[in-house]
Amino acid sequence: MLLLPDPSTSHAFLFLFIISLLSFMASVDNTREIYDHGLQRFERFVGAKRGCNITGISKLKEYLHRFGYLPQTNNNSVFTDLFNEELELAVLRYQEKFGLPITARLDAGTLNQMAIPRCGEPDDIAGRASTTHLTENYVYFTGRPKWVRQKPMTLTYAFSPWSFIDYLSPRDIRIVFRRAFSRWSNVVPITFLETGDYGFADIRIGFYSGDHGDGQPFDGVLGILAHSFSPENGKLHLDASERWAVDFEREPSEVAVDMESVAVHEIGHLLGLAHSTVKDAVMYPSLKTRERRVDLTVDDVKGVQSLYGSKSSLRFGSSLVSESTSSTNEAAAILALKSEWWFRGLGSLPVVLLLGMTMVHVI
Ligand SMILES: [Zn+2]
Ligand SMILES: [Zn+2]
Repeated sequence: MLLLPDPSTSHAFLFLFIISLLSFMASVDNTREIYDHGLQRFERFVGAKRGCNITGISKLKEYLHRFGYLPQTNNNSVFTDLFNEELELAVLRYQEKFGLPITARLDAGTLNQMAIPRCGEPDDIAGRASTTHLTENYVYFTGRPKWVRQKPMTLTYAFSPWSFIDYLSPRDIRIVFRRAFSRWSNVVPITFLETGDYGFADIRIGFYSGDHGDGQPFDGVLGILAHSFSPENGKLHLDASERWAVDFEREPSEVAVDMESVAVHEIGHLLGLAHSTVKDAVMYPSLKTRERRVDLTVDDVKGVQSLYGSKSSLRFGSSLVSESTSSTNEAAAILALKSEWWFRGLGSLPVVLLLGMTMVHVI
């Protein structure tokens, strides 16, 4: 028997559909507005240089302070709107870190870089890997912390049962993270295993909004995307306010952020790497919307292998390639990368993405 809907019921469904559609459109508009605001927040400072007094430039000082470029004022008072010597030095440091023309002015290129979403981890981290090889740009956290476990090393990871997002399936998220972990385990002798025991997992992953109790509050759509902590803390937090994407073909939002790119970056922090100055490295601190940057570069591989060593053998093409165990052997790093490409099959060339994470002692 064919059941026809009651006309009053179908009207109710139509009404609910229209309401849902309107609220969806409103949320898209709202997201767009927040995004535009983010891009324009520092736009009016274009051309500012030392000696200028511009209303609101204290916010830019707070931004540079947040990411490690500008120390707090002597007496811990609030920042002023004067473009002083300290700000000029901070702008110089920022331009150097991001490979921008060194102008010491707030030029359009510098301000555009600040508008790109990024990792919450500060950039100004001491402890470079090497002072003898100028081509090396990877950086450790202060004290060079790393995971210490019996070999062969296995680290477990788990997703928070309480802090998740509802518009993506847990299965899709788990697949993305499995892939992200494998990018690192392909080049260092560490096995990552998912476990359901969140309380005892080495690495604990969750989505959080605003202030979530670790002193590193998230800031809503874009801005800071995620943060994680240096070894052996194990926390990896993503901003639940972002529009996370596991597949851009299924996610039309202009402000969508590629989850795998952010996951690969944050796992790098969890393993002990800080931000790199190499623009296509996964450890570069910023990531544009709708961009993917998931392929480890030589810089990333050399950095992580200098902490954990390399795998004793790597498959390259159809042959088994023995690899030097030297932690800083560039050839080994390149072999590892080629091996990674082999694992991916006909993979695409690395795509630049800007990411921002904080390490915590920040992300
Ligand atoms: Zn957090
Ligand atoms: Zn980061």
